[in-house]
Amino acid sequence: MKKSISIIGGGASALILGCELNSEKYDITIYEKNNALGRKFLVAGDGGLNLTHSQNPANFIKQYTPYTFLQNAFTNFNNSHFITWINNLGVKTFVGSSARVFPKKEYKPIDVLNALLIKLKNNNVALKYKYEWKGFLTSTTLIFENNNKLLEINSDYTIFCLGGASWQVTGSSGNWTNYFAQKNITIQPFKASNCAFKINWANNFSAKIEGKLLKNISLMCNTTTHFGEIVFTKFGIEGSGVYPLSPLIREQLEQTKQAQIYIDFKPTLTIEKIIEKISSIVNNKHFTQNLKTTLNLTPLHLQLLKHFLSKDDFFNPALLAQHIKKFNLNIDALAPIDEAISTVGGICLTEINSNFELYKLKNNFVIGEMLNYDAPTGGYLLQSCFSMGKYVADYLNNK
Ligand SMILES: Cc1cc2nc3c(=O)[nH]c(=O)nc-3n(C[C@H](O)[C@H](O)[C@H](O)COP(=O)(O)OP(=O)(O)OC[C@H]3O[C@@H](n4cnc5c(N)ncnc54)[C@H](O)[C@@H]3O)c2cc1C
Repeated sequence: MKKSISIIGGGASALILGCELNSEKYDITIYEKNNALGRKFLVAGDGGLNLTHSQNPANFIKQYTPYTFLQNAFTNFNNSHFITWINNLGVKTFVGSSARVFPKKEYKPIDVLNALLIKLKNNNVALKYKYEWKGFLTSTTLIFENNNKLLEINSDYTIFCLGGASWQVTGSSGNWTNYFAQKNITIQPFKASNCAFKINWANNFSAKIEGKLLKNISLMCNTTTHFGEIVFTKFGIEGSGVYPLSPLIREQLEQTKQAQIYIDFKPTLTIEKIIEKISSIVNNKHFTQNLKTTLNLTPLHLQLLKHFLSKDDFFNPALLAQHIKKFNLNIDALAPIDEAISTVGGICLTEINSNFELYKLKNNFVIGEMLNYDAPTGGYLLQSCFSMGKYVADYLNNK
């Protein structure tokens, strides 16, 4: 008789896991509390479904905090493996200007999801909707609520793919932590990542810069620098330039209740070159206009500099250059968890072995965003789910 596998939660990691498990060897069922699979996957597609990144694997893996727990899974199924895999499913991809990988324009996120669902169906994976997992009776018997009734379901292997705790409307509510805590499994509280960062703008300054984009900049927190862009909002800032700094900003906020980030408006110019260019402005009557032209500054650069610098500093070439190269913004808080693109927190990595199996609950595995790790946007979040899903599938297929 075939052994049974229950996959709990039907998001990105569950989808690839279900596609890749050997259904000749196992009876496979996905239990999802919503009435559809992949709701967060579809939400992720709203701004362009960034499936993975084209970075070389050696640098790719370093984007995770920490990264060692993912190394085997990523080596087994890295970004190039995934691209080949999804292409073979009929979804053609392209590498965008930012080196991120997307489905070609003719494929909407729902088409990508449907391609995965067809593969699941062809793999004879049973789908149970409106099944909400409610805890463990034993390590092999799970409790579910379906149509207001509690059910007990046995399985030989269980893989939990319950997601993080942001965008609760998609089903990833993070309300499963107690069930693991009852089994003495250590859980870290959820925190926002890849989120907006709050800045207490003075004097209604936000009204002047709201919605404006700062491009081709580098941002620094502690000694870590990232290139990218940010958008200014009423709340503060967000965008690809600042998301990778989430772990460092979060740490500073926890330690001192405020985090410092520094923007380099002109990362391709040295401070000496900037001083030289500013000093070459002879006509002080039209200093701002000349500064704008000489350094190719935008009105937004100038608004920021003028708002935050005293008049004396603005007209001092050395000090102005310093601010252009190292413009300080104080971050006062993270956005609410539910609004974040992802969360950290959840099951501690010390609770799982190298196959993602819980030490304290044999034959129970945990993958995806429900584990306590961090990754920036850019396709790294989904790729980690795909790598973990494929790894556990291969592990169980070879058992
Ligand atoms: C706005 C937004 C944009 C994003 N854009 C990108 C992007 O472009 N690229 C990228 O790489 N990542 C992106 N992400 C992140 C990415 O979508 C997630 O990291 C990924 O979906 C996590 O997959 P998962 O399988 O761990 O969990 P999820 O996809 O969250 O799935 C978890 C599933 O478990 C179900 N579930 C939860 N509790 C229970 C229960 N008790 N019983 C039964 N089922 C349950 C949920 O309903 C859900 O279906 C984005 C996220 C958001 C919110």
